[in-house]
Amino acid sequence: MNGATNETNGVHKKILPRLQIIDEKQEFSKDLPSFMKDEWQIADAGFNYNLVAVFGSQSTGKSTLLNRLFGTNFDVMNENSRRQTTKGIWMSRGKDMNVLIMDVEGTDGRERGEDQDFERKSALFSMATSNVIIVNLWEHQVGLYQGANMGLLKTVFEVNLQLFQAARGKEKTLLLFVIRDHVGTTPLENLSNTLTEDLKKIWDSVSKPEGLESCTITDYFDFMFAALPHKLLLPAKFEEDVIKLRERFANPNHKEFVFKPNYSKRVPADGFHVYAEGIWDQIMSNKDLDLPTQQELLAQYRCDEIATVAFDAFLGKIKGFRQPIEAGKIIEDLGPQMEEIRNATIKQFDKEASRYLSEVYKRKRQEILNKTNSQLHVFFLGQLKNLTKKAINTFNARIQEKLKGEGYDFAEVVSNARKDIETFFKNNAEEEFNQLSDSINEIAAKSRTEETKKMIKNLEKTVQTQINEFVSLYFKTPTTDMWGKIIGKFQEVLQKAEQQLLKKAKSFNSSEEENTKSLENLRKRSWQQLRKKIDDELADNMFLLKLRERFEEKFRYDEEGLPKVWKPDDDIDAHFRKAREDALKLIPLFAKVQIPDGIDLDIPSDDDFIFEESLVILSETKQHDLNVRFKRESDAFYLEAKRSVVQTTAR
Ligand code: GDP
Ligand code: MG
Repeated sequence: MNGATNETNGVHKKILPRLQIIDEKQEFSKDLPSFMKDEWQIADAGFNYNLVAVFGSQSTGKSTLLNRLFGTNFDVMNENSRRQTTKGIWMSRGKDMNVLIMDVEGTDGRERGEDQDFERKSALFSMATSNVIIVNLWEHQVGLYQGANMGLLKTVFEVNLQLFQAARGKEKTLLLFVIRDHVGTTPLENLSNTLTEDLKKIWDSVSKPEGLESCTITDYFDFMFAALPHKLLLPAKFEEDVIKLRERFANPNHKEFVFKPNYSKRVPADGFHVYAEGIWDQIMSNKDLDLPTQQELLAQYRCDEIATVAFDAFLGKIKGFRQPIEAGKIIEDLGPQMEEIRNATIKQFDKEASRYLSEVYKRKRQEILNKTNSQLHVFFLGQLKNLTKKAINTFNARIQEKLKGEGYDFAEVVSNARKDIETFFKNNAEEEFNQLSDSINEIAAKSRTEETKKMIKNLEKTVQTQINEFVSLYFKTPTTDMWGKIIGKFQEVLQKAEQQLLKKAKSFNSSEEENTKSLENLRKRSWQQLRKKIDDELADNMFLLKLRERFEEKFRYDEEGLPKVWKPDDDIDAHFRKAREDALKLIPLFAKVQIPDGIDLDIPSDDDFIFEESLVILSETKQHDLNVRFKRESDAFYLEAKRSVVQTTAR
């Protein structure tokens, strides 16, 4: 089809090729990007393009009309073989206009008794992409409120509500009704009135989403009407009227120009293929489709793509700096050069990306700016280093030179040389410095916060590991001096962490105030980690286990750790009581963190954290509850012991 010719006015003109963007298997074409770019040459149009789709019953002359209006070559059904055209959506570009046209085949499933699945899908797709929808119908279909077209329109309305809920009244779609085989006895105005009435009725019958019960059809749609005479009976008049109709699409000064700005779906041409495919994917996976989300996804995807291209170009341009700087050379005008390269990069990014959703665009712009800055930062530092080296060498040489002569005033020699060299340095560095110091500060501040965060996180991790270790250790064999040991260990770990923090902070040049804040945070976080570990260790069942262990140790095993065999004259009751008492002592021991006298951990309290309160581990009720539960559990051991004696005696 590429290169096909069409004889119009005796001149051979190249017809733009069409593309089946959705095929009969409902798959999305992989060729759309190359068609947008090469075949249709519309990918660079930005927002300066429009999209038209057509709906209507089979064989109502839709494709014929599109071909006449836009100079396309969509399939027209042959008079002789009235076979159905395959389902799918075809797209082409209008000749001499920035308009994409979609010919939707098989939109009226109900007329052909098929399921309406594809009808709904293609309606969704068309509504989400098109600015103008042509609804094509025979004159005798007008007023047939129950007709096939009306079912289709109901679908269109429903789908539209789903898509544009959030954009009510701001973005609209134009429905252009084209009435075919208009005989002329009923004026167009009457036909339009009948249609308008019917549309309102259909709209009323559509169920509205919550909160939109009272929305009107004109919140979402504008309407226009046109009529065309019978193509075969009045061929000349037909052609004439088609040319008039074409004006509404082609001439922005026409009073009925169809492409109003608020019909635009705000998809830049270079992102159309991404957007369209994304929409189709959502439709196919039956996911809820809303345009704001699609717009956001599109913006992210395209801004990333655009940024990658711009950044690659940037890397290519700065490549040349590396070698000389690493070799210790001073690059003249490095500052201005870098500035220019960076500006060009951002400009390149802005050119395409700025058309996308503004918050996404701004975020991605900051990202690429940071990326370029940190690359340039390296060269900037290198240049300064080289400059310093050169300045010192020159200074040294200058002095040595002077000192070889005679009758010099040493102090004067030094101060003159210093003045010269400092001027040299300043002159050279100033430009670089001024150009870049702002961005340097910005990067430095940002990296510093990030580095500090990273460092603190690492510190906290180390603290946590140590805490976990010693708490587990001391809890394994609980003793009365356990808390003293734990608190002592905690202080030790914390102190080490604090020292490390201060050491690092110094290398970051953090302020006194920042340091105090970081230290406070560290102390508080570490304490919370300790508390969490304690809670983990003392979860209900874990604690009961501890009690049981302590109890069994005393009751079921002898001093050498061997299982006790009860003899008839053993005082089981006394043993039992002693062991149980011992075990129960653990409850008050663990009920509260006991800070040894004279120790102040200096953990800061704040609105949602009070240190004193955090000391309590087991509430009164909890303690009581554990008491009861454990007593019940230990009774079983008592009975078991008693029984074993009876058995031994009986043998
Ligand atoms: P589509 O299925 O709606 O795309 O219809 P086509 O454009 O393929 O046309 C179907 C048949 O209707 C073809 O044989 C056309 O020649 C014929 N046709 C096209 N336009 C008109 C028209 O305005 N009036 C009539 N009566 N027939 C038309
Ligand atoms: Mg067709």
